[in-house]
Amino acid sequence: MGNSTSNFRIPITFSTDKNSLKRSSSIISSFAHIEKESISLKYEDEKYYLDFRYSARVRSTIQIFLCAHHSEFCNIQPDIPIIALTIQEGMSQCFPSDVSTLSLSEYGEEELTKYSSSYTPLIIQIIPFSSNQQIQQLHTSYLSFVKENGRFSVKLLRQHLKIGYEVYELVEIYGNYLGEKCSVCLSSKRDTLVFPCKHLCLCSRCAVNLKMQAVRKCPICRTPLESFLKISK
Ligand SMILES: [Zn+2]
Ligand SMILES: [Zn+2]
Repeated sequence: MGNSTSNFRIPITFSTDKNSLKRSSSIISSFAHIEKESISLKYEDEKYYLDFRYSARVRSTIQIFLCAHHSEFCNIQPDIPIIALTIQEGMSQCFPSDVSTLSLSEYGEEELTKYSSSYTPLIIQIIPFSSNQQIQQLHTSYLSFVKENGRFSVKLLRQHLKIGYEVYELVEIYGNYLGEKCSVCLSSKRDTLVFPCKHLCLCSRCAVNLKMQAVRKCPICRTPLESFLKISK
């Protein structure tokens, strides 16, 4: 994991079984990513501009697609981006506004606002340069447009990281870091993330104890818990 990003992210093996209590994951470094909270749609001079920040540890390409059909594994059709830009390495860079204009008037409102597991109105991909296909990474942000008071804005649906042939769903950890003491026993190291609140607050033993209780609540925010994720380093 890079030490210069403030957002602490872990990829979780892509799973359709959201309520599984047995998931586990490990931390994987991504070479480049779009900062989740930074993505917005600006409106100026009757034009829409996409605004976001990205971090890249190597030279990369950013590709933007509108109204795209795709598989679960990020293969997009048609595969011609409306915007493609090579970017240099650096943390928290702004995507240049002079190339980020989106011609939304060419699309119907329904095309821009509906989405499914195989159709997404707006996709931003960042592809780090790599000579090795086995570890080729692809960071994909899936977004939809939302129309309110006659203006469009964007909402993030999910982010995936593909490494070689594996697809991971990216999840941000809130509040605390790996290695700090468990918030229940105050002695063992935290290694278990709880959902849906995504607090990294438990050691494995306290997680096992909590799973056996009839009422499971996060020790930090008291949210009823649906699942646990043990993170191996
Ligand atoms: Zn504990
Ligand atoms: Zn919580």
